[in-house]
Formats: sequence, C-alpha cells, structure tokens
Amino acid sequence: MTETKDVVIVGAGFAGMYMLHRLRGLGFSARVFEAGSGVGGTWYWNRYPGARCDVESMQYSYSFSPELQQEWHWSELFASQPEILRYANHVADRFDLRRDIQFDTRVTDAVFDRGTHRWTIHTDRGDEVSARYCVMATGCLSTARVPDFPGIERFRGKTYHTGHWPHEGVDLTGMRVGVIGTGSSAIQAIPVIAQKAAQVTVFQRTPNFSIPSRNGPMTETYEQSWKSQYPTLREQARHVRTGVLTDPNDQSALELSDEERERIYEERWAAGGTRFMAAFNDLIFSREANDTASEFVRNKIRATVQDPATAELLAPKNHPIGTKRICVDTDYYGTYNRENVALVDVRNTPISEITVDGVRLGETEYRFDAIVFATGFDAMTGALLNVDISCDDIMLRDKWQAGPLTYLGLMTAGFPNLFMITGPGSPSVLSNMMVSIEQHVDWIADCVGYLRSHGLDCIEPTQESENTWVAHGNEVAHQTLYPLANSWYMGVNIPGKPQVFMPYIGGVGAYRDICDEIAADGYRGFTLSTQEEALAAE
Ligand code: FAD
Ligand code: NAP
Repeated sequence: MTETKDVVIVGAGFAGMYMLHRLRGLGFSARVFEAGSGVGGTWYWNRYPGARCDVESMQYSYSFSPELQQEWHWSELFASQPEILRYANHVADRFDLRRDIQFDTRVTDAVFDRGTHRWTIHTDRGDEVSARYCVMATGCLSTARVPDFPGIERFRGKTYHTGHWPHEGVDLTGMRVGVIGTGSSAIQAIPVIAQKAAQVTVFQRTPNFSIPSRNGPMTETYEQSWKSQYPTLREQARHVRTGVLTDPNDQSALELSDEERERIYEERWAAGGTRFMAAFNDLIFSREANDTASEFVRNKIRATVQDPATAELLAPKNHPIGTKRICVDTDYYGTYNRENVALVDVRNTPISEITVDGVRLGETEYRFDAIVFATGFDAMTGALLNVDISCDDIMLRDKWQAGPLTYLGLMTAGFPNLFMITGPGSPSVLSNMMVSIEQHVDWIADCVGYLRSHGLDCIEPTQESENTWVAHGNEVAHQTLYPLANSWYMGVNIPGKPQVFMPYIGGVGAYRDICDEIAADGYRGFTLSTQEEALAAE
C-alpha cells in the first residue's frame, strides 16, 4: 500500500523535528522517517564521554517558541549530550511530534515523477510513500566514518566510534585505551576517558587548536540575562556572521601594538569558547593577522603541557587557526600531563594496521583492551548521497560527482520539490546550527505555503541560478584562509571525495538577507509551475 502525504521528511534531529512542527502548523500532512530509535539526531548518536555543545546552550536551542525557551532550564553553560537529548525529547513531547515519526526506519531511495510532480520514497522496512515534497533533514555530521585500516575485524578487544557510541554506556575503567583522532570529538572525550582508563594512547595525525570552554553551572543571573531579552538577542544572532553572539571586535589584529593585541587575546582566552575567533575582524582573512592568534594559542599549549616534545607535537603549525573547525575543551592540553596519557604522532609513520592486540605503526605495536575511533564523518554530503535520489533517471550522486552543486544550499537543479536543510552551499556547519536550521525550515515552510496559495505545485532552481550561486560560494571561500586547511569542510578526510569548500562562508546574516530577498522577489532563480504547465511544456 502506498501512503500519500504532502511531505516526507528524512531525519528527526533538530531540523526534522522543527520542519514537522512548522508543516503541521500550515496544515500539511507529513511523515518523518528516522533511522535511529529516538529523536535528537546528533545528540541521539554521539554519546561518547564528554560530549557536549560548543555553542552556549542559551544560544544552542530553539527560538521558535517563546514558551519553550522560557520554560526550559539548562543546568550548565555548555550542556552535556544527555541534557541536550532530554531537551530534544521534551520538544518532541511538548509539540506531540512522535505520532508522525517512524523510528528505526532508513529511507533508501526517492524518485521524482515529472508526470505527477510527486516523489516516491522507499524505506528499508518496505514503506512506500508518495509525497509532493521531500525534505532531507539528514544532518551534516551523521555519517560516521572509520578509516579502512587493515585488520580491524581481527582486534580481540572492543572498538567504538564516537558517533555510534553504545546507548548502554561503556565502562573503560582500568582499561588500556587507544584513541585515534584529535578532532572536536576526541578533544572532548580524551580528558574524560583518561580519568578512568589505566592508560590512554592518543594517535594524532593533525593537531588541532582548542580553546578552553570555561564551562560551569548555569547561574540564575546569567539565565535571566538571556531570558529577559530573548526576542532581541535571538534576532541579533540571526544577523551576525556565525549565528552566535560572541561580542565581536571590529578591529584588525594588525592595527594594535603587540601588548594591546596580547591583552585582547588573554581576555578572550580567559572568557573561553569560540568567541576567541571574534577577537579581531581579520583572523579568517589575513594570514598575518591569523598568525598572531595561532602563535598565541601555541604558546598557551607550550605553557600548559609540561613535556616540551609533547607540547610541540600538540601545537598546530600546518593550518591557520579556525580553518579546521576550532575545538572547545575542558582540560584537553592539561590531560597530557597525566602519567597515564601518551601521544603518538602518526603524521610521519601512519597506522599500518589494527592487529589482534591493538594498533601497529611500522615495527611498533601498541596493545589495547579498547580502541576509540574519533575519526569523524563523511560530512555534509554523506547522508544525502547514501539515499538513492533520482529524477529523469539521473542520480544525485552522479550529478554531484565533482562536488555538491546547489542553489542556496536549499535545492539542486534537476531535482524539483527536493529541499535540503543546512545543505552544502549554505552556512550550516560554519554557524550556530540551531539558527541555520530554523532559518532553513522557516524558508522551506514559507515556500511550500506560497506554492499552495498560488495554485502551484512544483519548484526547481534554474541551472543558471545554481551555477551563479556555486561560483559565488567558491569566490567567497577563496577570499578567506579556509581552503588552506586539509579539513572535512573541503572533503579531504574521505579518500576520493571531491575537494571543494562545501559550506557557504558569506555569513549567516548576509545569507539570510539573500534568501529573504529571493523569496520576496517571487522566488527569483527558481522555476515555479503547475503539473499542467510542466506537461504542456514537454
Ligand atoms: P542530525 O542531528 O544529524 O540529524 C539527522 C538525522 O537524520 C539523524 O538522526 C539520522 O539518523 C537521520 N538520517 C540520516 N539519513 C537517514 C536516512 N536515509 N533515513 C532515515 N534517517 C536518516 N552544532 C552547533 O551549532 N553547535 C554545537 O555545539 C555542535 N556540537 C556538535 C557535537 C557533535 C558531537 C556533533 C557530531 C555535531 C555537533 N554540531 C554542533 C552539529 C550538529 O550536527 C547540529 O548542531 C545539529 O544537531 C544537526 O541537526 P540536524 O537535525 O540537521 O541533523
Ligand atoms: P574530525 O574533526 O573529522 O576529526 C577526526 C580526527 O580523526 C582527525 O584528527 C583526523 O585527522 C583523524 N583521522 C581520520 N582518519 C585518520 C587516519 N586514517 N589516521 C589517523 N587519524 C585519522 O571529527 P570529529 O572530531 O568527530 O568532529 C567532527 C565535527 O563535529 C567537528 O568539527 C564539529 O563540527 C562537530 N563536533 C562538535 C563538537 C563540539 O564541541 N560541540 C564535538 C564533536 C564534534 P586529520 O585531521 O589529519 O584528518
């Protein structure tokens, strides 16, 4: 039996949940499919020790409901994964979302029929749904990746990926643990694992810059300072570059004396978190300016880590600060002063295999009871291209063979009525994702509402508008230092993946204005039609 809905939404993370809520409010029928057994997406899957957000919770939360944002209480400045997951579940209950979400169900393929202007969507549980619109809320960081080290299956101990952490928890007490990777996940997990494990050995290919979070309990005063002004502050956040209010300093790092510049870095370091990158207005544009910030953090690492050789290994030298995702930690560098923590550089001698007992690099074998893969994700395109999406016998993954091509990161030419939330070509992972998710959901909801009220049922970007947007995205990216880093933003972490800068770096506020103007101009750059018009044109 084919079920018929106005919209199918793939994914029940923060994007899919809010999309469902908005569409219901407009009177559309919708079915959400979610591969996991619960809501929350990222926060459902990433249950590794130490997992928490790096955007303060007063900002990393939904703004769409004044009641919700007033009634919810965050216990810490940066909430932990269990608390964020409780919040996601609270939202699902409060807005009665679960009745339209089918869990434990993975969407396998979606095919658009130009004759009917409908998508037919299939799942791994045999569902077939016909829907006017398909919204991919599949997440930018939801396809966990373990590198294909030879011998993984032989390892006698346990292996874990941070992005697929067992829900029952893992007790690493007294164990010899190997951690592969030093990205944000590892940087959060290592200090916590080290408190329990007998020995932690960290395999580092590229060191990362990390800023102490200065996390702490939420105080009544701080909470009220947000809650009493939420409408104003949320609106401000929607119009700043990263979607996070970070108290940006609109001065160049190069216009101050060394002492003055150092003072400002010290203040930001003491305040903690990603606001460090807002210390000056040119840190992502000027190598010279960036060098001052990079060197400041390298010196902090040298001052924290007692063993000079370990400190030098931990101090990043090959990429400008911020061009790989900046990390935020609690006692990351200090953890290397523990007796039970060791750092192994795998840049020059890569991991050659996983053995029965552990990890081998060249002639040296390290023996473990457990290995933690903190090796990241097939970011931004992984989850989208895992679904067989096609129209006119063209597969999306074939169209995107040389890299993702979109108009505004919301739609792609040749695939009508298919929306992406925080897709490649939008600010997405360069921003407070809650702000970007809400912006995209609202834009899509307004768009399908517009189509309905104008008697239309099909929207598709023109090839020309897509080409122009992709060219603009590349141009803006190359005005910054970001392409200098071997980052997952560039697809470098996946062998064979095209190396293009995937998110849009023009800034959340500027991007929102562009999206709003295009919508106000009757969806400029899109072709809007009815079924009859499309058939007549064929
Ligand atoms: P997700 O939360 O990834 O949800 C997508 C869902 O789609 C998943 O549940 C997945 O199972 C499902 N899905 C995918 N494919 C299919 C399919 N074919 N069929 C069915 N279901 C499917 N961002 C910030 O702004 N601040 C932070 O502090 C922050 N911290 C992070 C910490 C970690 C550990 C990670 C991994 C990411 C973090 N992010 C952060 C980014 C985070 O992904 C977003 O903030 C946000 O949670 C994304 O929500 P989403 O709904 O778009 O995607
Ligand atoms: P990641 O940043 O991609 O880090 C993966 C790590 O694994 C890197 O250090 C990488 O080294 C290493 N690695 C990969 N393959 C390897 C190999 N074959 N040999 C040795 N090392 C290898 O992944 P992540 O840490 O999971 O973070 C992904 C993103 O999720 C973050 O950038 C952030 O956006 C988000 N996140 C946020 C938080 C937060 O603080 N709120 C926490 C976790 C995640 P190379 O760098 O050399 O490739």
